[in-house]
Amino acid sequence: MVVDQSAQQVNGGSDPNYSVLDSADPNECGVVIAASAQEHLGQWECLLNEGQTPSITGVFQLLEAVEDSFLKEGIRWEILISVYIDLTLLGKLTYIYYYVYYVCQYKRANVFRLPRHLVPSHYDISLIPIFEDPYVAYGHTDIDLTYDSGADTGADDYTQTVVLHAKNLNFDLDTLTVLDTAPDGVITAMDVVGFEFDYEREFFKIILGTAFSDGGSYTVSTNYTSNLNVGDLRGFYTSTYEDEASGQEETLAVTQFEAVDARRAFPCLDEPDLKAIFKVSLGRPLSMMAASNMPIESTDLIGDMDGFVMEHFVESKIMSTYLVALFVGDYDVKTTNMSDRWEVSVLHQPSQADQIGLALESGAIMLAGYEDYFDILYPLPKLDMVAIPDFYYGGMENWGLITYAEIYLSLVEGDSSTFDEASVVEVVAHEIAHQWFGDLVTMKWWEDLWLNEGRFFKG
Ligand SMILES: [Zn+2]
Repeated sequence: MVVDQSAQQVNGGSDPNYSVLDSADPNECGVVIAASAQEHLGQWECLLNEGQTPSITGVFQLLEAVEDSFLKEGIRWEILISVYIDLTLLGKLTYIYYYVYYVCQYKRANVFRLPRHLVPSHYDISLIPIFEDPYVAYGHTDIDLTYDSGADTGADDYTQTVVLHAKNLNFDLDTLTVLDTAPDGVITAMDVVGFEFDYEREFFKIILGTAFSDGGSYTVSTNYTSNLNVGDLRGFYTSTYEDEASGQEETLAVTQFEAVDARRAFPCLDEPDLKAIFKVSLGRPLSMMAASNMPIESTDLIGDMDGFVMEHFVESKIMSTYLVALFVGDYDVKTTNMSDRWEVSVLHQPSQADQIGLALESGAIMLAGYEDYFDILYPLPKLDMVAIPDFYYGGMENWGLITYAEIYLSLVEGDSSTFDEASVVEVVAHEIAHQWFGDLVTMKWWEDLWLNEGRFFKG
C-alpha cells in the first residue's frame, strides 16, 4: 500500500460532529469501516489506493488517521467498528482489530473523564438509610467548587454548566440550587435553566443562565434519594446476617465505592485526583450504630423521623471520593489503645466478640509499626475495621473505616486453621498499608492503581 495524501475523504452524514459512516465503497480503497447508526467516526482520510497491496506501514498510517479523527472530533468510544478489508489484508486483520480496539479504549478513558473546569474542595453529605421496602437513602449534598477558565474541556463548552457524576440517584430538582459566592462574600443564587442526564457517562449536568467567572466559588446543593442497592454489593448497599442470640435476620447498610460507585450514593466528582474534604452526617435507627471515616462529633434528633437520630462526623482530611465510607448496623465495638494519637476498633456482630481479637491486636500493632517504618504518622484519630457478611472483596481500605469480608476479620475458636489466622493478618496488613499507599497518597488515575496495590517497597 502506498499512502496517498490526496486520496478522497470519506465522510457520511450532514452533521460534521455526528456524521455516520456506515459504509464506503470498497472498490475505492479496499477498506470499509462500518459504524452503527447512532455513532460516528468523524472525518478521516482514506489513505489506501485501489488495487495496491497494502503494506503494514500503510495500514498503520490509515489507522493513525482514524485515531486522529477520534482525538479531534471527540467521538464516543462505543463506536462499533468493523473493518472489512481486501483478502490480501486478511493476515493483518487481527492486528488492525486490536489497534482500533486500543484506540477505542484510549478514547473511552478520555471521553468518560470529567471536564476539569470545576474543582471540588468540600462536600457536606447527609444520608438516612431506610431499612425497609423500598430500601432507599434520603440524601442531601452540598458541593463547593472553584471554576478554572483555563481547563481543557475539549470540544464541549462548559462555561455555564456544572457536570457531576450521578448513578441511579433520584433528584428532587425543586430543591436544587447553585450559589455564587463573590470575593466580597456576597452570595447570589444563579439561574438554573436546565438539566441533562448523560446516562452513558453517568454525568448529571446543570445548565445555568449565566457563565462562571474565573476563580469563582460556587456551591451546588440538592436533595435526592439513592438506592440502598439490596444484594448489589456496591454503592450504599444492604447486607444481612442471622443474629445468633435471637435467630432473627438483621440488616445493615454499608458502602463499597472503589472504583466508580460513590456516585451511586451521592452526586460527586467521582475521580481519584479530585480530592476534597468530606463532612458526613448519617442517620441511624436508635437500635443501631453508625460509623464513617472520622469520629462522631455530635448527635441530633431527626425532626420528622421518630426512632432515628443523626450522627454528625468530624470533617475528613482531603481525600478521594472512592475512600468515603458509611456503615449503619446493630453492631458492637471493641477498641484497643496503643497510641495517644489514635485508637483502633473492630465493629462486629454482637455474637462475634470473641472472634475478632487477632484482627484487633494485629491491626493496632501494624498501624504503629507502619508509622515507625514509614516515619509518617497516621493522620486520623481513629481506625475502625468492620466485618461485613456480604462483601465482594477481601477488604477495602476506606480511610479510617476499613471494611472486610467476615472471613478476614473473624476467627472461630476450634474451627479456624493456622492458615485462616495468617489470612486475617495478611489482609489486615494489606488494608492498613493502604492507609498510606492509596489513601494518604493517591494515584491520579486508575491506570496507576499498581502504585496502591504493589506489594513491594524498599526499606
Ligand atoms: Zn489493596
